[in-house]
Amino acid sequence: MRKIIIAGNWKMNMLFTEVEDFLFELSDNLEEKNLNSVEVVICPPSVYLELSSDIADDSKFFIGAQNVNDNSNGAYTGEISAAMLDSMDIPYCIIGHSERRKYYAESDEVINAKLKKLHENEIVPIFCIGETLTQREQNITKDIILSQLNGGLKDVKIEDNVIIAYEPVWAIGTGKTATPAQAQEIHALIREWLEENYSKDVSGNTPILYGGSMNPENVKELLIQPDIDGGLIGGAALDVSKFSSMVATAVEL
Ligand code: PEP
Repeated sequence: MRKIIIAGNWKMNMLFTEVEDFLFELSDNLEEKNLNSVEVVICPPSVYLELSSDIADDSKFFIGAQNVNDNSNGAYTGEISAAMLDSMDIPYCIIGHSERRKYYAESDEVINAKLKKLHENEIVPIFCIGETLTQREQNITKDIILSQLNGGLKDVKIEDNVIIAYEPVWAIGTGKTATPAQAQEIHALIREWLEENYSKDVSGNTPILYGGSMNPENVKELLIQPDIDGGLIGGAALDVSKFSSMVATAVEL
């Protein structure tokens, strides 16, 4: 049975005291919750990983980084290695987010190298894929998804744990959510690809999250889709009440 994963991606938002306030409040909100079937993850900017991790140690949520470098170590000013994340016991890391693909020209090849570095350090990648609006309008969504899966997961032992996040780029931060049927169609395609390229077990055990303007109003109808195992949430994860209410919805399912 796959757990529901509710993950918040703060991107480049939040100041130090806001981080403390949010995480202590989240911690209080989760205290009485039964989280046996739900995993809650917060991905803060890297400068707050230590603070966030310390607060998470006494709470029921986990911490993820938003990015990692594809090299092991060395002269890469400003970058963070997977070994560094591991040395701080950070269990998750987002890779391949569409904003990094777009603004930092990250290719499937670089994303694949990052994913392997995370695995070498036993960190679970939250591997993002998704089509742009133009690609959807050109009717090539499925081709794009398959090529991102083939590129990003090339020679990856997925048994080592990968979370896949399907995030249609046109739905990120736009207030436009994919309909549950649109999202389910692509999630089913991803699950089918996993079965063909790995095994039925891997396909059944790999969490596939939806991301793109998920909020307290639409979270339930998305999460009840058979192949949607949670959400990667941007905007609504900056508001502790909204984020906690989405966790509460997941707990009730
Ligand atoms: C994201 O950035 O991964 C995301 C899904 O953002 P939003 O929820 O704001 O669309």
